[in-house]
This record gives sequence, structure tokens and C-alpha cells, in this order.
Amino acid sequence: MSEPALVVEGLRRSFEQGGVRIDVLNGVDLSIAPGEIVALLGPSGSGKSTLLQAVGLLEGGFSGKISIGGERVEALDNQGRTRVRRERLGFVYQFHHLLPDFSARENVLLAGLVSGRSEAEAGARADELLAALGLSSRLGHRPAQLSGGEQQRVAVARALANKPMLILADEPTGNLDEATAATVLAEFLALVRGQGSAALVATHNEALAGRMDRVVRLHEGRLAQA
Ligand code: ADP
Ligand code: MG
Repeated sequence: MSEPALVVEGLRRSFEQGGVRIDVLNGVDLSIAPGEIVALLGPSGSGKSTLLQAVGLLEGGFSGKISIGGERVEALDNQGRTRVRRERLGFVYQFHHLLPDFSARENVLLAGLVSGRSEAEAGARADELLAALGLSSRLGHRPAQLSGGEQQRVAVARALANKPMLILADEPTGNLDEATAATVLAEFLALVRGQGSAALVATHNEALAGRMDRVVRLHEGRLAQA
């Protein structure tokens, strides 16, 4: 049996604002099998981004246990966090966060270079992913020269560049119109399934959540199976 892609146990996170403490995550438990795609549903403000930031080792300030691919990660130092992010995780956000001065191809290729691939290998992977996303004729376009849907496709390609064990997506199509969101999500899911990565995908769209393998809901700081 291979290790789960993700195990979260008893995750807690509070914010203090003007002397008032808000318990956003109140003991979250979650396990994701290798290759499993899980939708994280919850209304705005329910803590979806907070959970993804904790799992993505982007934010401190939480308590609880997190294992990624069988390795405990919550107590790693900065160097260890960077290593896990580069080797095991991929990220897609609501806004593309692409580098504005680089082309679509370069944005994807750079993710491979940063993780230690050769330029030839990273370039081939970028071409393969962008072709699968229908962007072969946009390789040299910079983000500002792309539509919103195309920008998100490039962000998807970047997240998948290193075939990470776990992809964390925070409302990846939340900034797109309904039809484009459905298309981009379908392409994203097909690529993730094709390469066998697991994913945790935050959304407040029930219809989109229904296309994933399993749905969990954040309610009062805890997760319930839908
Ligand atoms: P979601 O992504 O589900 O919309 P968030 O995780 O962004 O929810 O936020 C959950 C709650 O945590 C909100 O009530 C928000 O105000 C609060 N929160 C998030 N980040 C901070 C912060 N840095 N400081 C104070 N409160 C925060
Ligand atoms: Mg959010």
C-alpha cells in the first residue's frame, strides 16, 4: 500500500483581530488517497483558503499534524518546506499569479527548472502540457496577451509541470464565467487524473464539486463528508 497523498489531523487555526479571537479551523481531519481528487466546499469565509495555506506550508500559526506522501511536514524548517513544495506540491489560485514578463511557455518551463530539471526536459514538459490544454498557438504570449481562461490554463500547466503528488487549488476557476469555468475545470481534472496526482480543490460551486471523486464540506471549522 502506498502512503496517502495527504493526512491532516486535528488542524486548528485562530485569528485574533482587535482583541477578538476567531477559530477558523477547529480540528480538521482529512485523508486523501494517492490519485484521489477531493472537492473542498464551503461558503465564503468558511476557512477554505486557510486550510489550503496550512497544507501548502505557506502559513504558520496553526496546530495539528500534516503528512504529505507519508512525511510529517508541519514542523519542517523553511528549507524543508521549500523542498516539499517543490517536489510534492502544485498550486493553482483563483488569480493566475503568472510572471507578467515571461511567456506562457516560460512560465511553465521555469517551474521545471526551479525543481532541478534540465531546460530541454522542462521545455518538453511545458510544450506537452500546453498542447494538452489547447495552447500550442499561444506559447510565446505573455499573460496580459491571454484571455482569463487561457491564463488559468497556463497556471494549471505550471502546477502540473513536475507531476506533483498533490495539487492544491483554491477556487481555480472562480474568476471565470460559468461556461469557461466548466471547460477549464474539466481539462484540469482530466490532466490530473491522467498523471495520477491527488488534488484538493476549494470551490463554492456545487456543480463543479460534483465532478470530483469526493466532496468534503467545511462547517464551523470542521470537515464533514458531503
Ligand atoms: P474562504 O477561503 O473559505 O473564503 P478564508 O480561509 O479566506 O475563507 O477565511 C476564513 C476566515 O478567516 C474569515 O472569517 C477571515 O476573515 C479570517 N481570516 C483569514 N485570514 C485572516 C488573517 N490573516 N487575519 C485575520 N483573519 C483572517
Ligand atoms: Mg478563499
